[in-house]
Amino acid sequence: MVKVAKFGGSSVADAGQFRKVKEIVQADRDRRFVVVSASGKRFSGDNKITDLLLLVNAHIAYHVDCSALLSDIEQRFVDIAEELNLKYPIAAKFEEFSSVIKSLSPEYIVSRGEWFTGQLMAEYLGLPFLDAADVMVFHHDGTIDMARTATRVNDAVARLGSFVLPGFYGATVDGTIKLFQRGGGDITGAILARCLEAGVYENWTDVSGFLAADPHIVENPRSIHRITFDEMRELSYMGASVLQEEAIFPVREANIPIQIKNTNRPDKQGTFIREKAADRELEHLITGIAGKRDFLAIHIRKAHTSAEVGYVRRVLAVFERYGVSVEHVPSGVDALAVVVNGADVRDTVYSIVGELQQEIKPDSINVVEGLALISVVGRNMSRRAGTSGRIFGALGEAGVNIRMITQSPQEISIILGVDNKDFERAIRVIYDKFADEMVSTIE
Ligand code: ASP
Repeated sequence: MVKVAKFGGSSVADAGQFRKVKEIVQADRDRRFVVVSASGKRFSGDNKITDLLLLVNAHIAYHVDCSALLSDIEQRFVDIAEELNLKYPIAAKFEEFSSVIKSLSPEYIVSRGEWFTGQLMAEYLGLPFLDAADVMVFHHDGTIDMARTATRVNDAVARLGSFVLPGFYGATVDGTIKLFQRGGGDITGAILARCLEAGVYENWTDVSGFLAADPHIVENPRSIHRITFDEMRELSYMGASVLQEEAIFPVREANIPIQIKNTNRPDKQGTFIREKAADRELEHLITGIAGKRDFLAIHIRKAHTSAEVGYVRRVLAVFERYGVSVEHVPSGVDALAVVVNGADVRDTVYSIVGELQQEIKPDSINVVEGLALISVVGRNMSRRAGTSGRIFGALGEAGVNIRMITQSPQEISIILGVDNKDFERAIRVIYDKFADEMVSTIE
């Protein structure tokens, strides 16, 4: 089986982390394709190389001297090379880069973070270095040209056998360097896994996969061992994000599972993300709970509108005109609420209300601020009657007032609105209620 192993910034932050990567790669002969991010933070409060390179760009744009900054970046790489006794002439190569920096494009400058990290890692692992500019082919609009990329990747495999590939960048056919979004090393890994038809895409990071709840809220929450792509989308959307979202699509389409693993704790199982789950009978009821504060609901009431064709469209069109993305639209017979992210309407909410008043002429309209949304996610909830009742019961007993309820149409999540002040307590109450049903018998 072919495994693509992608290591994030914290996994390659210094020589000590490089050593862990080597142990991991050498522990499994299937790990022949390694993707690296640029060195990240070594400790909290440290800087990521990518952020420093972005700062270099800002200095250049404002004609401010950046030589001290460049020396700091160089030193990070030099430290790794020296500690690991690498032969790669990092200081000379970095100075070559620095000396022409003003003639380079901002994307090119930022891409050198992964480039240098990749060079050092390739030597350390004893694998060839493959420049992403030679294989990750971008269209001019910044999207990836999958067909060309696949051909070039497979040519490289035939030529090199295995390699270290820097993540986050690629180039157009004429050689102009392009970047993915921030965190885009995950996307490179996913595209590579897709091109190689890998058996698994391993994403090595600094957490042991997805947790069933935010550890700042629930003490010592369980790890999620198996999750489907749909469930992961639900949890990530609500803030429980481990992976760059865009990284999911290339592997998902090709039915390649993703395994999230912790470079610092390789013994931990991590999280397996795949399209379909295992035998449902043996599985947990609730996969995870996530949530976010500071939503806002605009409640609109108007008698006899339930039968009025086009009413909901007219309401939503007002939000569309203001470029506001709508999260949920729970509705009653003659009333509906439009739930949006509070930050998205900070400056426009009263203009929106004004337009709704003109457009809809409602009997009443009012704005409820400070709403937190909690998503209880579980692909198996739909087949066990009474789950929502138990959630509501537990919250009721704890005195938490539920302000809103919706369920995703595939029935993999139940979304609750509570007051911001009840947010953390509500999550703890739900977690405690279902803690025993979050484990599968096939763990
Ligand atoms: N180095 C890039 C970033 O910090 C990409 C990555 O780490 O995946 O966003």
